[in-house]
Amino acid sequence: MPCRSDTLPDRMGLGGKFMNIGIIICDRYKSCAGGKCFRAARNREGAFGIYPEDENLEIVGYTSCGGCPGGNIEYAPEEMIKNGAEVIHLATGMVVGYPPCPRVSYFKKFIEEKYKIPTVVGTHPIPEKYRKTHVNLKTWNSKGWKDLIAPTMAGVDLRLAYD
Ligand code: SF4
Repeated sequence: MPCRSDTLPDRMGLGGKFMNIGIIICDRYKSCAGGKCFRAARNREGAFGIYPEDENLEIVGYTSCGGCPGGNIEYAPEEMIKNGAEVIHLATGMVVGYPPCPRVSYFKKFIEEKYKIPTVVGTHPIPEKYRKTHVNLKTWNSKGWKDLIAPTMAGVDLRLAYD
């Protein structure tokens, strides 16, 4: 569970607690407008379901890994932290791409070790069309992959809503 943010009662006039989030996406999707990630954050869906309803989520950084093998993972968290990030999310694209990123576990371990910041694998719920293909491919049959996709494996209605 990520650390908790300060209470900043007047920030953006929203009141209450805030969690500042940095998102790193797979470079294959670098032209993605981010709509699914932002929607999921707004609705506390997918991996954003770990945050309580009364916590305001603010996305303070959004960038790509820089392309295989992910060189920007070494630097992007530093800038995000300077801009207030308290948790990093590795976007769902890293676990649903064809193939999924083979380095995603390492990225999580590296960021947590180097920057001492909680790192969550996933953002928006896994879209149903990706789930179907990966089930047929048996992509996620190992325990390691099952653990990685668990935060974003929503119910069928939600998966369809993100197709
Ligand atoms: S597969 Fe992994 S390393 Fe390659 S571009 Fe995507 S996130 Fe980056």
